[in-house]
Amino acid sequence: MGAITLQNVRKSFGDVEVIPGVDLEINEGEFVVFVGPSGCGKSTLLRLIAGLEDVTSGRILIDGQDVTDAGPAKRGLAMVFQSYALYPHMSVRKNIAFPLKMAKMPEAEQKARVDRAAKILNLDSYLDRRPGQLSGGQRQRVAIGRAIVREPAAFLFDEPLSNLDAALRVNMRVEISDLHNKLKTTMIYVTHDQVEAMTMADKIVVLRAGRIEQVGSPLDLYNSPANRFVGGFIGSPN
Ligand code: ADP
Ligand code: MG
Repeated sequence: MGAITLQNVRKSFGDVEVIPGVDLEINEGEFVVFVGPSGCGKSTLLRLIAGLEDVTSGRILIDGQDVTDAGPAKRGLAMVFQSYALYPHMSVRKNIAFPLKMAKMPEAEQKARVDRAAKILNLDSYLDRRPGQLSGGQRQRVAIGRAIVREPAAFLFDEPLSNLDAALRVNMRVEISDLHNKLKTTMIYVTHDQVEAMTMADKIVVLRAGRIEQVGSPLDLYNSPANRFVGGFIGSPN
């Protein structure tokens, strides 16, 4: 579960082509980081995969199934939003259960899933609090919990740590990597931060102006950057 294929995916907004054509294979269980400068199309590519935007042309497959024309709910993926997307008037438990409630899942199953996610995220003792009574890191974990309970084929993160302070960002990086080790679910993680990319990724996809410049492991990119742009961006001496 969680293999994602992009076949010549293009996206234009009006007359402006922001993704001129992307081919990419993401394997089951991989931690893939999309990295590149601001405005290079990382969020757009992630939203195309999530089904939050329609492709202009090309195909998207999930586990071999063509989902190009399927809406977000049909794709079985979970987008992790920044912690500020929590509902302030609801308890942590209700925030995490929210997508299950919307899907009209039986209460007992909702509770079991929330309890399981809370354990994984060390939020067991915070379930009755409201988001305003939590630290920034705990709030971010609640946002991740809301994705975990859906048991998605893949998690999609769009710069989830960008509004956290530097020390917390380092902690959350480790927590998200640990989460990937525990769940072994495919994760696509968007960032403009090369340190995040180099420390978290199994596979890095370097984007520039909507095109893939290079795909490889952190070590591959460091040792053999495809060009000066990649080398400069990754901080390779080569
Ligand atoms: P990144 O996430 O890498 O910073 P984005 O994917 O947000 O980049 O944006 C890529 C390009 O597409 C930018 O030039 C941006 O202005 C443009 N863009 C993104 N979304 C829209 C939209 N809904 N309408 C028009 N242009 C957009
Ligand atoms: Mg973005």
